[in-house]
Amino acid sequence: MNEPILKIENLSVDYVTGETLVRAVDRVSLDVKPGEIVGLAGESGCGKTTLAKAILRILPPPAIITGGKIEYRGKNILEINEGELRKLRWQKISIVFQSAMNALNPVIRIGEQITDVILAHKSVSPDEAYDRASQLLEMVGIHPIHLNSYSHQLSGGMRQRVCIALALALEPDIVIMDEPTTALDVIVEREILNQIKDLQARLGFSVIYITHDLARLLQFSHRLAILYAAHIAEIAPAQELQENPLHPYTQKLMRAMPSLVPSEVKPETIPGTPPSLASPPPGCRFHPRCDRAIEICQREKPPLVEKATNHLVACHLAS
Ligand code: SF4
Repeated sequence: MNEPILKIENLSVDYVTGETLVRAVDRVSLDVKPGEIVGLAGESGCGKTTLAKAILRILPPPAIITGGKIEYRGKNILEINEGELRKLRWQKISIVFQSAMNALNPVIRIGEQITDVILAHKSVSPDEAYDRASQLLEMVGIHPIHLNSYSHQLSGGMRQRVCIALALALEPDIVIMDEPTTALDVIVEREILNQIKDLQARLGFSVIYITHDLARLLQFSHRLAILYAAHIAEIAPAQELQENPLHPYTQKLMRAMPSLVPSEVKPETIPGTPPSLASPPPGCRFHPRCDRAIEICQREKPPLVEKATNHLVACHLAS
């Protein structure tokens, strides 16, 4: 794969309320190459969704981006004006949220919602936009008859497919998917994931896929980033991470995954809970839960270092 299409460097995002400052993303660096599926995994509250929203600058207050840069094709998204940002959102980078019910307008027919997006950004006639909307629905496995439906007339899986169709409407380079299948049953989830993978291979867009479900990500992604308490703990190609996880947190996440085949080995739980980001522990943020912690772990943050080709880890034992 060639040069990254998206480069995030040392990105920090703070939530400031009164006297309290919570750094939800702390000097995170990550890149995405054309046609690549990058998975972001980690427990709830580790900064995954904040990172995704920062990329599109759609973070609601009191969140503030306090450092770093996000380059899309060499241009810093954090420095472009509102006009340029409008062109970037949806046309170049789009997003699918977890709750399709909230993303779709309940009083506007599906067809009108898709054609509105197309007409707002492309110089096409209403008939051409309608034809395109029809193709998009077919592309995600929904009969175009549902262009006339309202969102409440569709199942949860169909609504999420409509959101994917909307995200692909302007043929973006990157689609961010934030837990898009969490509310669905496993069979529908599998169907949708297969469909996304199919579309991605056919159309060539990149995906940033966010979930706490590591097993899904290992199957679905080319490369994974493991986040812990607003920091990147480990980044590696999916197969490398599965076969050779280096960070004790990743190793514990792996051991916590239920096996798909009957096994004597029971999944383990990770003791303790992630720290409060309002007062994270010094040094390595995982040290209160790490059974391999050494003295330095309590006082020095481990740097993210490359241990093998494209395999980076932030752990004193590795460095
Ligand atoms: Fe555990 Fe120390 Fe590595 Fe952190 S740096 S994961 S505490 S061994």
